[in-house]
Amino acid sequence: ALSCGIVGLPNVGKSTIFNALTRSAQALAANYPFATIEPNVGEVPVPDPRLGVLAGLSSSEKIVPATMRFVDIAGLVRGAASGQGLGNAFLSHIRETDAIAMVVRAFHDDNVTHVEGGPDPLRDIEIIAIEMALADLASLQKKRDKLQREVRANPKEAPKLEALDRLIAALEAGRPARAFPPDSPEAAMARESFLLTAKPMLYVANVDESQIAEPGPMAQAVFAHAKAENSRAIAFNGKIESEFAGMSDDDVAMFRADYGITTGGLDRLIVEAYDLLGLMTFLTTGEKETRAWMIEKGTKAPQAAGKIHSDIERGFIRAECISYDDYVTYKTLDAIRSAGKLRSEGKDYVMQEGDVVEFRFNV
Ligand code: GDP
Repeated sequence: ALSCGIVGLPNVGKSTIFNALTRSAQALAANYPFATIEPNVGEVPVPDPRLGVLAGLSSSEKIVPATMRFVDIAGLVRGAASGQGLGNAFLSHIRETDAIAMVVRAFHDDNVTHVEGGPDPLRDIEIIAIEMALADLASLQKKRDKLQREVRANPKEAPKLEALDRLIAALEAGRPARAFPPDSPEAAMARESFLLTAKPMLYVANVDESQIAEPGPMAQAVFAHAKAENSRAIAFNGKIESEFAGMSDDDVAMFRADYGITTGGLDRLIVEAYDLLGLMTFLTTGEKETRAWMIEKGTKAPQAAGKIHSDIERGFIRAECISYDDYVTYKTLDAIRSAGKLRSEGKDYVMQEGDVVEFRFNV
């Protein structure tokens, strides 16, 4: 399963956020086994308001959301790449994840020690970026030695070595590998080398209570930094979100209104991470259940069917698709059909976000 690692300096609120994610998962999923797989790995349902609507239209007995995996990766400090703290163990945990959510402390609290003195988001981001860049430079250096020998034997490989050198130069200049366009030779080399700085990044500014509704200068600095490197950023207060995670929906709505918070912080984190991983959702609905299925963007109909069962992929005939919006507009299959909104799609069809699907297949 694709996963998102939660990283950051100590005492920035990583565990608070991770625990809130997994706790709200348990609350949301009374009849479904979302669990913390290991102390630091959690399977979290992806919030999707479409599920409730479809379940209502189909009188479904239950709702099954898509889930994604979060990993709380503790232990990064200045000097990790050279073995400080948990050092290399920390970095290898990041290597195993597919995207990174970096929690940055933008809250003031004299009772919570800051390892670097006081909150300063850009300094903190830089410390972590440097450690990840150093780890990447170490892997690239090893790769370079090997590639150089290969180029001597086979000069056709020279462009790869050049791409690698441009990647090294960028990292040394403080530019992450993700700053290269996805279809560039540098990006291909970065993927091939499993670079940490190539992973898609979401910055999470953990802000003061007073700044949730309107992000202050520290959060603004994080947003600007994210924008400059084509990453994304969100802001919320981890402590409040963790308190929300244990409350009823009505209570949460009331408190959110009090604080002037319009969007759920944890929900946004999950949805942004899902998107960051290049994932999208198709839906199935019926009396038994309404369910969200997670696929990578660009997945074709038979492979999407394979998510449900390998037999459906093997015997795939066609996918009967209705866009979610049409489904909600016309409400019944008869009305959908007579409006001409039921599409019969073949094996080359690329699934679209929110397709409500029934697969036809040979057994
Ligand atoms: P980690 O080391 O990054 O995992 O940080 P923790 O989640 O363990 O949090 C460290 C301390 O900061 C704990 O005492 C938390 O209660 C506190 N904390 C976390 N989030 C917030 C926040 O948004 N505001 C304030 N004031 N304290 C927080």
